[in-house]
Amino acid sequence: MEPKRVILLIEDEIGISNFMSAVLSASDYQVLRAETGQQGIEMTATHAPDLVLLDLGLPDMDGLAVLENIRSWSALPVIVVSARGHEKEKVAALDLGADDYITKPFGTSELLARIRTALRHSGAKVDQSSGSIIQINGLQIDDEKRIVTVNDQVVHLTPIEYKILLLLATHAGKVLTHDFLIREIWGPYANESQTLRVNMSNIRRKIEQNPAEPTYIMTEVGVGYRMVE
Ligand code: CA
Repeated sequence: MEPKRVILLIEDEIGISNFMSAVLSASDYQVLRAETGQQGIEMTATHAPDLVLLDLGLPDMDGLAVLENIRSWSALPVIVVSARGHEKEKVAALDLGADDYITKPFGTSELLARIRTALRHSGAKVDQSSGSIIQINGLQIDDEKRIVTVNDQVVHLTPIEYKILLLLATHAGKVLTHDFLIREIWGPYANESQTLRVNMSNIRRKIEQNPAEPTYIMTEVGVGYRMVE
């Protein structure tokens, strides 16, 4: 039998902590719990969990500071738990190296899906130069031949559109911030938010059945975009 994956919950609200702990235990994870940022940092160091779920609203210190501390010495996956409407906070967390975020209140299946994705991405680092074929539902990207098809129909993308799509697809399941996408596509000093939006709407027009109700690329309002898995 495989050893259980260990998840550290850093959460001060006992109700939420109990709920998450029950859900995770039922899904065969081993759960550790910390109620303060300081305790969370110490337990991350001493117990080396496989993943940390970090509430950003902690009593003793800012959750972002906890993240910053952990990131200064560890690359383990961290998912931040944030309140609804705190988009700036989520972006800051992603920029500080969080792997993902989840917004309160959230459902069990969403929580578990985010955890699976983060654990998978940490286990196998994505190699963009592998020239492999990426298949996401009806969407197929052949990076060697640079051919994109949707339900076996070839889709013609501009080089920029292709780059954006490939970037999202190689990080499927993970939210990529506007800044991250812009930096990766246009370089560190670019200010291309408008161009990104235009490109995204063109990509959607080409790959989505109904661009108003996308099934491949989801908008994370105020944060960025996420390709489904
Ligand atoms: Ca809290």
